[in-house]
Amino acid sequence: MLKFHNTLTNQLEEFQPLNDNEVRLYICGPTVWSFAHIGNFRTFTFGDVLRRYLKFKGYKLTHVFNLTDVDDRIINEAKAAAKTIDEFTAPFIEAFWEDFDALGLERPDIAPRATHHIAEMIQIIEKLLENGHAYESDGSIYFRISAFPDYGKLSKINFAGNISGASGRVDTDKYDKENANDFALWKLVDADEPTGWDASFGRGRPGWHIECSAMAMKYLGETFDIHAGGIDLKFPHHENEIAQSEGATENQFAKVWLHSEHLKVEGETMSKSLGNFYTFRDLIAKGYSATAIRYLLLSVPYHKQLNFTFETLDGAEQTIARLRDFRNRLQEAHLPDGINTDLQEKAEKYLNDFEAAMDDNLNTSVALAALHNLVREVNTATAHEVACTEDRSFILHTLDKFDAILGIFGEASEEILDSEIEALIGERQEARRNRNFARSDEIRNLLGEQGIILEDTKDGMRWKRK
Ligand code: AMP
Ligand code: ZN
Repeated sequence: MLKFHNTLTNQLEEFQPLNDNEVRLYICGPTVWSFAHIGNFRTFTFGDVLRRYLKFKGYKLTHVFNLTDVDDRIINEAKAAAKTIDEFTAPFIEAFWEDFDALGLERPDIAPRATHHIAEMIQIIEKLLENGHAYESDGSIYFRISAFPDYGKLSKINFAGNISGASGRVDTDKYDKENANDFALWKLVDADEPTGWDASFGRGRPGWHIECSAMAMKYLGETFDIHAGGIDLKFPHHENEIAQSEGATENQFAKVWLHSEHLKVEGETMSKSLGNFYTFRDLIAKGYSATAIRYLLLSVPYHKQLNFTFETLDGAEQTIARLRDFRNRLQEAHLPDGINTDLQEKAEKYLNDFEAAMDDNLNTSVALAALHNLVREVNTATAHEVACTEDRSFILHTLDKFDAILGIFGEASEEILDSEIEALIGERQEARRNRNFARSDEIRNLLGEQGIILEDTKDGMRWKRK
């Protein structure tokens, strides 16, 4: 039975879709003003594990993941670079999807961009103006939180003190608001500003929060199953999404809210503003593999903080190599004919352990332990020659099931197989006997490219993977 910790109720709850077997899922995507760092990708990897696990459980999914392609940072940076918003964001959007694919993250069903949904945002704001949940001040439009008594229900922040006596103007930033906590739905822009849209309530541009309300409700309906994002979005972004959406529709917005904890570096949140970040590209340039980065990011349950160190990334690299080597060796092993039902039962038990851990609010670290237990069991059985040919396919099939969620084994054919290595080594020895050193060097280089190191020893040629 799948259970999630729902931020809204602060309870571990059994998951039950609103509609039959269908799950409608919204995950807040990146702000495309720069390259995403691996902290961002921790949250997106959690989103991928969530997506894959819902499919594994047999649900039919509609998964929306937006791109925030208009906000203050984008507007300012585009202006400084003398570019339009589209020109400025295009290379970052392209890079984002490249990194996304390389990390094995499955593409969402719909990836809407904020700038393509301005009309939907305007409609919501019109509704909020009509029903008194929004007001105009100096050309900008604000959400009136005093008109939404549920404000704070997600973040559990008590706003009562701030809301009462909300009539006086509090000058907290350059915009004038009735109450310090009221937030902008639409920001006035000067007539000569390049980034602006015309609306019945004046030319301007949307606030960040209204973007997600508009895109989520357009594709998933007024009420949908799951809304997810990083923990820093809980307040104010998600609290404000709820206020605007429910203020406009009077229906519950998302049923389940999931928040992933931050990736930290030496105790501090990895972020652009602190300058303590690595992009995915930085780590690839340092020689790390995308799979090891993925493994590291998913190795700690999403609701716990993860401290990034190069030591743990090196460890992840070794673990991935060991797991792949295990699968390759199993594929190639000379096994006795027959079947060992005991081993197959154990494999099934570990798959059940895996599923139980994932059912428990996506506990990936316990789920990974089940995979490592399976590997240990099969290694022992192979060493004692009690793993048989028919078990091989059963176990490989079980590994595929684990990997449908973990996505860490990669294509089996990606890696050169032991038998291919040995065949090439045989050919190289033959070439050397024939004094064909050109071919011999060619084979050494070819193997080197695959990360295979050759060692001449007194007992003959040995090889190992780097
Ligand atoms: P942004 O591009 O700033 O809109 O952020 C995209 C996503 O990354 C959001 O869901 C954030 O909550 C998340 N995020 C930002 N920093 C971190 C971090 N250090 N660890 C995990 N998630 C993060
Ligand atoms: Zn959002």
